[in-house]
Amino acid sequence: MSKEHTYTNGEVTIVWKADLCIHSRKCWTGLGEVFKPGQRPWIEPAGASTQRIIDQVKRCPSGALSYRMNDGSSEAPESTGTDVGG
Ligand code: SF4
Repeated sequence: MSKEHTYTNGEVTIVWKADLCIHSRKCWTGLGEVFKPGQRPWIEPAGASTQRIIDQVKRCPSGALSYRMNDGSSEAPESTGTDVGG
């Protein structure tokens, strides 16, 4: 299955599944402080607040990006937005 890469700021863990990424550029045009395709590792969770990271992760059109809270709490409130595109 998809290879998972994880990146954490200590509070939230960003999960990126490389196989699903369609390189839509949504994440780095939306939150360039965290998603930096030119560098390795290309995701830098320290670049923005947890809430901003979560908001951006939810906008990933392919499902390549997801997240989990490190404290095991349930996820942040569900967004019902149907932001499409990419
Ligand atoms: S938004 Fe999702 S699909 Fe687009 S580049 Fe980022 S991880 Fe890949």
